[in-house]
Amino acid sequence: MKIHEYQGKEILRKFGVTTPRGKPAFSVDEAVKVAEELGGKVWVVKAQIHAGGRGKGGGVKVAKSLDEVRQYAGQILGMQLVTHQTGPEGQKVRRLLIEEGADIKKEYYLAVLTDRATQKVAVMASSEGGMDIEEVAHATPEKILKEFVDPLVGITDQQTENLARGIGVPEASVEKAKAEIAKLYTCYMETDASLAEINPLILEGNGNIKALDAKFNFDSNALYRIPEIVAYRDLDEEDADEIEASKFDLAYISLDGNIGCLVNGAGLAMATMDTIKLFGAEPANFLDVGGGATTEKVTEAFKIMLKNPKVKGILVNIFGGIMRCDTIANGVVAAARETHLSVPLVVRMKGTNEDIGKQILKDSGLPIITADSMAEAATKIVAAVK
Ligand code: ADP
Ligand code: MG
Repeated sequence: MKIHEYQGKEILRKFGVTTPRGKPAFSVDEAVKVAEELGGKVWVVKAQIHAGGRGKGGGVKVAKSLDEVRQYAGQILGMQLVTHQTGPEGQKVRRLLIEEGADIKKEYYLAVLTDRATQKVAVMASSEGGMDIEEVAHATPEKILKEFVDPLVGITDQQTENLARGIGVPEASVEKAKAEIAKLYTCYMETDASLAEINPLILEGNGNIKALDAKFNFDSNALYRIPEIVAYRDLDEEDADEIEASKFDLAYISLDGNIGCLVNGAGLAMATMDTIKLFGAEPANFLDVGGGATTEKVTEAFKIMLKNPKVKGILVNIFGGIMRCDTIANGVVAAARETHLSVPLVVRMKGTNEDIGKQILKDSGLPIITADSMAEAATKIVAAVK
């Protein structure tokens, strides 16, 4: 799960990470009011969307008067902000963050994330903050420093020192930078984050180290432990179909291909997607109907897949274990009827009550194509959509 920058900064403050003072605003008048309350002479008006690269896209503006705050807030609120992370259609800005302008002397990069390869927590830092870190990683990978933290030991003084000195923090600010790194690590661990990124982490004219941006990803499987973070969820930022799917307890992720897949079990869903690719096509979605797929659930799954105009065919791949193939077959037939299915449908089912399931499909009189192996199923659906 992702959250907005202003929410990320609220979390950072709880863990003692230094951030600029600021508050969210949902209207132009509120933006001006927040700026007045903050006082000072320079404010930054920042679009709040679940994507980075806002600065380059025109979603971050420095205002030198309250009039400018009003002007920029008016420009940014409601705009369709396009960044390299939003895709060409962009994302509508519905919230702003108004914060005090910082006196930036140097921009660094700092992030904590889960590293699968080492099974440790990677803390990454770079002297090249502010810009695209992907670009830095590509062009000058030596400029990204990494320390791998054993979660049982925690981050050590030596590690924060290596990072702070390694990215060139001036002597007078090294202790401050070390403290901010250690606090970000604690924050990452305590919130079950999978990514906690500050880009840029800045050195201010007065020698202070401050987090100017905040990006978090949280492990959805751990959210039940942290209701405060769930409360930050902003449905406006999420894919409407994925929200609809989650209401029916379906794990659905939309993708760019044209073959919808309905599968039970995440592992089988991944293997099904791989097989579609192997046979020369692209899946339109990941969809795991889970263990207890009822007729209602299967029908909803069909409806969600068919909402995507790119879908030119559907592949159902079911392993009947606890879930019986006849139940799924009944669900598929009912769903095909209810949605007046007009795209080719290939069904492969294996396991408990397989024969009864196949008979139900046959007796339905619907033009359902059946297959025995995964290769056969993939070949048939790929041929059908071409
Ligand atoms: P994004 O990563 O989405 O582009 P950032 O929050 O990193 O958004 O802002 C982009 C740039 O805007 C920063 O690299 C920094 O130079 C500038 N900026 C952001 N917040 C402030 C602030 N409070 N004071 C001064 N400059 C800022
Ligand atoms: Mg940033």
